[in-house]
Amino acid sequence: MVNFSLNEEQALVQKTARGFAIEHLAPGVIKRDETETFPGEQIKMMGELGFMGMMIPEEWGGSGMDTISYVLALEEIAAVDASAAVVMSVNNSLVCQLMLDCATDAQKEKFLKPLATGKLLGAYSLSEPQSGSDASNMCTTAQKDGNHYILNGTKNWVTNGISSDVVLVFCITEKGVGYKGISAFIVEKGTLGFSTGKKEDKLGIRGSDTCELYFENCRIPAENLLGEEGVGFKIALNTLGGGRIGIASQALGIASGAMELAVAYSKERKAFGKEIHKHQAVSFKLADMATEIEGARLLCLKAAWMKDQKKPFGKYSAMAKLFSSEVAMKTTVEAIQVHGGYGYVKEYHVERLMRDAKITQIYEGTSEVQRIVIGRAVIEE
Ligand SMILES: Cc1cc2nc3c(=O)[nH]c(=O)nc-3n(C[C@H](O)[C@H](O)[C@H](O)COP(=O)(O)OP(=O)(O)OC[C@H]3O[C@@H](n4cnc5c(N)ncnc54)[C@H](O)[C@@H]3O)c2cc1C
Repeated sequence: MVNFSLNEEQALVQKTARGFAIEHLAPGVIKRDETETFPGEQIKMMGELGFMGMMIPEEWGGSGMDTISYVLALEEIAAVDASAAVVMSVNNSLVCQLMLDCATDAQKEKFLKPLATGKLLGAYSLSEPQSGSDASNMCTTAQKDGNHYILNGTKNWVTNGISSDVVLVFCITEKGVGYKGISAFIVEKGTLGFSTGKKEDKLGIRGSDTCELYFENCRIPAENLLGEEGVGFKIALNTLGGGRIGIASQALGIASGAMELAVAYSKERKAFGKEIHKHQAVSFKLADMATEIEGARLLCLKAAWMKDQKKPFGKYSAMAKLFSSEVAMKTTVEAIQVHGGYGYVKEYHVERLMRDAKITQIYEGTSEVQRIVIGRAVIEE
């Protein structure tokens, strides 16, 4: 049976997220973008609302909600502040979800509980200067030394790298065996030998911080190994499969936020004696936006539903991310066009949304990588 209606809890989550975004994220969003200011206070409040560990069971500090609710909340947050949305997405679907799937009870007690309640913030560190799409080509090593591992290497492009308390780091524990030599570790901020680089000066999502991480003879307890040695790459890819639902929802939100602004503007602005939406060229743009956004939303919800049903969802999350991110880019460009010259200045928000949209085609696997994932799945079916 196909049912497109939301249940009571899902509808409440959507309403709460929308209300929160309007009341607490909209004020100052332009300034935070300009000054690259992390929305620390707002992220704390999102933790209190249960938005930082949405799909984590209550026994581990989360809200015990479904992935559909997560998509709904992220869309609303991203429609107003895409930077806050990526902070939320990384903490939920990369950090907390990985820990739920792979951590021991002791690790969950110590790290997952505070991460899922929003008391701590997490980051996920796979990429390195020479290895992004080809992530298994990493160089950072973790060498066992008694009850410790010693980490050495440089990671880059780490979202929440500066503001986080805990980072999940992927390292080589056995050389010469390719991806089978990669393991995952929990590294706490403040550990000797672990430092962060400068904040990257980015095109978009400027309210979120992104930086390099440096490990120089950084000793961490052996009990911080996640899963077993050698399974890190599998863990990384499985986690990214779910993460893509988050980024797809972020892209969806950016698109729906831009469209909402374009529709409102088209009713206010007059040209040649009538509101501009009465010019068919403008209303066709709005029609295309609405149709493509609805398609993106359906793909996001389908991927979320598949995950909630514990069915294989990798192809669907890749499709959702590919399509939603392309829709976000196209919609935001057209939203600027609908605004004319006003769309080109910061005050009207759509230029920021366009800058924010671009990253959704790049991180957690570029659009090209999503096509590789989908293409492989189609052939294997
Ligand atoms: C703002 C930001 C935040 C990020 N956050 C994180 C984070 O929190 N954690 C983390 O680990 N990483 C993070 N990343 C890294 C991100 O995931 C990578 O940038 C992304 O995976 C692409 O890798 P790359 O930049 O090395 O590009 P490359 O892999 O060098 O790709 C360059 C181009 O080549 C194409 N290409 C590569 N291989 C193929 C192929 N086989 N077939 C077709 N085309 C191909 C790509 O699609 C792309 O167009 C972040 C990046 C940015 C910019």
